[in-house]
Amino acid sequence: MIRINKPKQPPDVLLKKGAKQRRKLCALYSRYRHDYDSGARTFHSHFDREIYAHETVKRVLIQSQHGKCCFCEARITHIVEGDVEHFRPKAGYRQNPKDELQRPGYYWLVYEWSNLLLSCPKCNRRFKGNLFPLINPSERCVSHRGKINREQPLFINPAKDDPQEFISFKRDRAYALNDNARDEATIKMLGLDRVELNQERRDHYEKLRLIYFLAFADPPHPLSREAKALLEKAVKESEPYSAMARAAIASRFSPDA
Ligand SMILES: [Zn+2]
Repeated sequence: MIRINKPKQPPDVLLKKGAKQRRKLCALYSRYRHDYDSGARTFHSHFDREIYAHETVKRVLIQSQHGKCCFCEARITHIVEGDVEHFRPKAGYRQNPKDELQRPGYYWLVYEWSNLLLSCPKCNRRFKGNLFPLINPSERCVSHRGKINREQPLFINPAKDDPQEFISFKRDRAYALNDNARDEATIKMLGLDRVELNQERRDHYEKLRLIYFLAFADPPHPLSREAKALLEKAVKESEPYSAMARAAIASRFSPDA
């Protein structure tokens, strides 16, 4: 996971159609609050994918994230379109994976630019889903009238936080830098240590390791210069698993790191 820099200006469709829809959702909630809280009514049919996942929204997310998943850093857009992920879940939330779904969710943030990211289907659907744990669940903001700034999410938000202050890598494996609840929750609950992902990163790591030794061979190898250029590319935010590449190169591919 690396820091994602989205343009500050939201895509037009969110500012216009999205803002209008948001007003409707908030008015509905104010009118039928008990029904939405109990789940007797849901906002499901009111959430308009044509707005929050509009092609102009996706395009900016793809550009900002270089076609990579906001969580696992896999390059996705050459295989699938990618999911527009709501950092705060729109239709209900869970503090823990086995908890019952709590409704109505963050309905007022469905079209909120700061709440949107691009994710691979696996991170979004199999792991994050409706999970949105807070450090202190009693401070959860449960309606558009609440104080969202009081919430302290457990998940690291790559569009707000710098994930590299929280998570680093030992070879291909992600680990919590500060040994605190946020780092741990982000790695475990988002599946950043899942087997298939570790395998992908391991393959990448092994290739980079060979390139590294070629780059710094003594005496220099005829391909050393090319190898150095490949390493410089591997740490760029546009490249898959760049956080792991940065950690590996910083550790000089030490087997103990
Ligand atoms: Zn992913």
